[in-house]
Amino acid sequence: MIKILHHGAVNGVTGSCHELRISHAGILIDCGLFQGQEESRGSSAADLAIDFPIDHIRALVVTHVHIDHVGRIPYLLAAGFDGPIICSEPSAIMLPEILEDALKIGFTRDRALINRVLELIRARVVPLPYGRWHSVFEEEVGSLKVRLQRAGHILGSAYVECDAVSGSAAERIVFSGDLGAPHSPLLPEPSPPERADRLVIESTYGDKNHEDRETRRYRLKAVLEHALEDGGTVLIPAFSIGRTQELLYEIEGLIAEFGDKEIPQATKGSDPSGSDPTLLPAANSKLGAFGVSPQGDRPRSESLTWSNLEIVVDSPLAAEFTKIYRDLKPFWDEEARALVAAGRHPLSFEQLTVINSHEDHLNAVEYLSKSHRPCVVIAGSGMCAGGRVVNYLKAMLGDARNDVLFVGYQAAGTPGRNILTYGPRGGWVELDGERYDIRAQVHTVGGYSAHAGQEDLLRFVEGIPQPPSEIRIVHGDDGAKRALQGKLRESLPEAAVLIPN
Ligand SMILES: [Zn+2]
Repeated sequence: MIKILHHGAVNGVTGSCHELRISHAGILIDCGLFQGQEESRGSSAADLAIDFPIDHIRALVVTHVHIDHVGRIPYLLAAGFDGPIICSEPSAIMLPEILEDALKIGFTRDRALINRVLELIRARVVPLPYGRWHSVFEEEVGSLKVRLQRAGHILGSAYVECDAVSGSAAERIVFSGDLGAPHSPLLPEPSPPERADRLVIESTYGDKNHEDRETRRYRLKAVLEHALEDGGTVLIPAFSIGRTQELLYEIEGLIAEFGDKEIPQATKGSDPSGSDPTLLPAANSKLGAFGVSPQGDRPRSESLTWSNLEIVVDSPLAAEFTKIYRDLKPFWDEEARALVAAGRHPLSFEQLTVINSHEDHLNAVEYLSKSHRPCVVIAGSGMCAGGRVVNYLKAMLGDARNDVLFVGYQAAGTPGRNILTYGPRGGWVELDGERYDIRAQVHTVGGYSAHAGQEDLLRFVEGIPQPPSEIRIVHGDDGAKRALQGKLRESLPEAAVLIPN
């Protein structure tokens, strides 16, 4: 008996968590926390406790370290799970980092307890190189081997091939995890599995296609130039892992390409609040406080060019993961490695400022909201449901000179989705229980999603030489799942295409 069970990411409050059961033994693929709409009705510790049997679970395989795939690992450990945590080599480095942050926010304030949990996680992690089979168990009742392949979603992301044997039955079952879009910056794109008798596939963008890389790169350029024309801050809410690094990579590329090209500035000197940076006596001391380069000294007459555009990453976590990305260049794609060989520094260029301390963060919010200095700020969380981006939004949404640029998926019910929906109509959004009018302009550039689009998902499935007999669609909105189901049924009529619930 070889069975696939879904403990999460179907609907409800938890994120991705699937089980592959072989007779009386099993493994889990991911153990995540849901983010978005349903979070509020189920994020108490009691609701997040593991509510399915785990005595027979021999291992947890992690596809990648996004919180909706790993956020419940502390609860799994608390429930008594004592098996290995198998993941790719980059994920092994990032997992304790991301869980430390998650624990601080959602689990406990007890530092000693956090350290114990992290130690436990570090001791259990088994880094598995891509492309190498690993035996999870081999018993009389059956056996299981797993192999990780690059998924191109974030650094370390993998899809999981499972060779399961139970009695006379043998099957190759593949769990896609989250798949990346082809031609996304930095990471090699995923190749379809060589075989999959059954496939469990994500469908975040099962109903949408992305703009191609060049189109969105120039759209990003156009949005940034337009946004910076009238001064003010361009705020980009972005997840710490993946999207932040992709954006930095693209922005570095734009700076390299357009270096001295002037970004047109509208109405210089017409600042009605009179708070031009050059008029703010405290400006430089504030800037010094968070280490911003002295662009505030730029005389009014001097033009803004891509080379002197300032990019701020206001997130210690994003900075930490950017550093890990930098350290793991062997996992970058050829294009990115070629840039490094040519002397470029795609993730640590001179226009980049990182804000770490909370005090510097507050200073930056206040300074930028008053100065209207052209600046691009990347801050989390990606869906504006918490994190430092919320302080920026509160301070900046009311001013038409500021811009919010969304580059990723905004789940229903999140402030991000509401800003995206109501912002362009002159509406408002609720942040921390208060209403904020949205005067800032709202933009989106699709494709920096680190998720495969519909065509990419189809190509992934259709690239499997022998179509799977069964495909299970998980991890997406209902509409996305159904759209992908329709397409897959059309192209692979022999496959049973299911949406488990
Ligand atoms: Zn993900």
